[in-house]
Amino acid sequence: MITDIDKKVKKLPKEKKRIFNKIFRVSVTKGKLVPPKEMYSWIKRNFESVRFVKTQKIVKIDNIITNEGTLFNWLRSKRPIQKAKEMPDLSKEDPFCTPLKLTPADSFGRIKGKYCVTASNIAKYDGLHGLIIFKNHNPLEFNKEQVADYINTAFKWFKAANKEDKKAIYPFLMWNCLWRSGASIIHGHMQLNLTRKRHYNKIEFLRKAAKKYKGNYFNDLFDIHKALGLGLEYKGVKVIANLTPVKEKEIILIGKKMNDNLKEAIYKTVRCFIDKMNVQSFNLAVLMKPIANVKGWEDFPFIVRIVDRGDLTAKTADIGGMELYAGDNVVSSDPFKVANILRRCLK
Ligand SMILES: [Zn+2]
Repeated sequence: MITDIDKKVKKLPKEKKRIFNKIFRVSVTKGKLVPPKEMYSWIKRNFESVRFVKTQKIVKIDNIITNEGTLFNWLRSKRPIQKAKEMPDLSKEDPFCTPLKLTPADSFGRIKGKYCVTASNIAKYDGLHGLIIFKNHNPLEFNKEQVADYINTAFKWFKAANKEDKKAIYPFLMWNCLWRSGASIIHGHMQLNLTRKRHYNKIEFLRKAAKKYKGNYFNDLFDIHKALGLGLEYKGVKVIANLTPVKEKEIILIGKKMNDNLKEAIYKTVRCFIDKMNVQSFNLAVLMKPIANVKGWEDFPFIVRIVDRGDLTAKTADIGGMELYAGDNVVSSDPFKVANILRRCLK
C-alpha cells in the first residue's frame, strides 16, 4: 500500500535508498476529526467505518527533480459525488463518422492510414494542430494493429506538417478519450501538435530537469520504481506505476524509440486500463524530442503518460484548486495496486 511507502523505503538497500532520496521526498501525516453521532450512519454508508474517517493517514510524495507531487488518501475515492442520471448515448453518429465530408483537411492534405485518416482541427490551439480520426467510432474499441497504425500515421503527419512549416519541429501527440478527458467528440481520435521555437512547457521543463540531474534521471526513476515493486520491463520498454501520479492510476512508459515494442506496450497498457481497471475516460500523451536535431535533446527518450479521468457519469471535475495552483495532485488510487494489475496485463 502506498500509505506504507515510508516503511518500504526504509527496507530498501542503501544504494537504492540513496537514489530514492535523490528524487523523492515523503511526508506522512494523520488527519483527525470528530464526527457528531448524527453523522455515524451516513459515514458508515459511504466510508464503511467511522474509524476510517476519524484518523486518516495521508501520504505526500514529491518528486523534487520535476516538482511533481501527489497527496494520497484512498478515502477520497469514497466521497459521495453527484452523478448524472443518464449516461449519454456513446454510439450516436457524429462528424468523425464521415471525416472526408464533415471535417476540414490540413493545407497539406490528409494522410490516410489503414484504420484512420487525418484532419485539421477546426479550432486550433497551435499553428499546426491536427487529428487522427479512427475509422472505428467506438473510442474504447481498438486492437494492437490499429493503435500502431494511429501512431504511424501521426508520425507521417508530423513530417508533412514540418514540410509545410520548417520552423515547427516540436511534436506532441495526445489521445484524449471521452469527455472527462477534455475530448469534445465521442468518436475515437488522437490529436497532434507541432510547435515552434521551444517545446511545450512541461516537456521543456522535464528535459532541463533531467539534464541537470546528476546521472541518468529516467534510468534512476525506473530503477527506484522497480526496486519498490512499481516498475517492470516489457520487451525493452520501461513501465512505471508512477509514485507521483498526476491524477488517478497514472502509468508512465519509457522507450528509446517509438518502435513496435513501445507501440505494443502502449496498446496493452490502454487495454489494461479499460478492461482490467474499469477506466472509461483517459488522457494519453507522448512526450518526445524535436523532429529535427536540436542541441540538448539528444538523450530525451519517448515518454508515454496515461491517466484515468474518472467516471463518465460524475458531475464533479477531478481537478480543483490544489492541482491548478498548489501543484499537488490529490489522488485516491494506489500505485501498488496499479502495478499489480499492470504486471498481469504486460506479460
Ligand atoms: Zn463517429
